[in-house]
Amino acid sequence: YAAKHAGVRHRSHQSELDVVAGEQALLAAEMRAALDTGQFRVVYQPIVSLPDGRIVSVEALVRWEHPTRGFVSPVEFIPVAEQNGLIVELGAWILRTACAQAVMWRNELGEAAPERMSVNVSARQLAEPGFADVVASVLAWTGLGARHLIVEVTETAVFGGGQTVQTVKDLHELGVKIALDDFGTGHSSLGLLQTIPVDVLKVDKSFVDGITMAGRHAVIATALIQVSNGLGLMAVAEGVETAEQAAELHRLGYRLAQGYHFGRPVAEPDFTGARVAVV
Ligand code: C2E
Ligand code: MG
Ligand code: MG
Ligand code: MG
Repeated sequence: YAAKHAGVRHRSHQSELDVVAGEQALLAAEMRAALDTGQFRVVYQPIVSLPDGRIVSVEALVRWEHPTRGFVSPVEFIPVAEQNGLIVELGAWILRTACAQAVMWRNELGEAAPERMSVNVSARQLAEPGFADVVASVLAWTGLGARHLIVEVTETAVFGGGQTVQTVKDLHELGVKIALDDFGTGHSSLGLLQTIPVDVLKVDKSFVDGITMAGRHAVIATALIQVSNGLGLMAVAEGVETAEQAAELHRLGYRLAQGYHFGRPVAEPDFTGARVAVV
């Protein structure tokens, strides 16, 4: 019975894997078509200064509007694009789109335009030889000044091997700002600050979530703002959803924040609209 049972379990486990693999293969194939037919778009979420809520930067986030599945989350398709390598082409498109948008806003709004455009870059892109050249040519092609671009990388991406550390250094040499995304969630987040040039720490939402209850989260969020200030970096609190969290972050010394409380990712953020004051 045990052997038979194990066999059944083995088969059902295997077929589950087959389903997942099949799903991913389908998604991968559809992604190629999606790129060719323009199903991807880029939306922008404000990063605001505390306490006045002025929009200082925006983060570009990719969206996939699938003709039959509807909205597919980047959490689902970015890993697939990483695996099949399509992230290189998709990522370059996202970068061009975001930088071109930043230039349009600068032309249209002048000083009211956000100071910086923040773009997520994945492990595979960073490992690609010549990625810094890709960024340099996008900046040249769009006419965006390097100082107006932030590249967001995660710890996993930086430790992805190959030339990634050198690539980050090359990007920094260009004048592009480097942000560490989801900061504090990796295995050696603090160690990374000694390995690569960093300008921005994006303090992960998990630390912001419990910040209004005096406890571990608040202690860590406080420690991280001290590290950030001590090293002369900019800290951005991610995933701020309530006015209470915003006020507490401000009290702890955070000067920059991002989250649904200030604005969701949208195609055309309102840079002239009312500001969210936290104090
Ligand atoms: P991320 O870079 O850490 O982006 C922040 C995510 O948190 C976004 O989800 C954003 O919509 C969401 N978010 C922002 N404020 C709040 C909030 O107050 N509450 C909650 N619950 N969520 C909030 P999104 O757009 O679904 O992206 C998820 C992840 O997918 C990103 O995490 C990033 O790792 C990846 N991703 C998204 N766009 C791109 C892209 O263009 N390129 C690459 N390589 N990765 C991307
Ligand atoms: Mg990000
Ligand atoms: Mg993040
Ligand atoms: Mg994240």
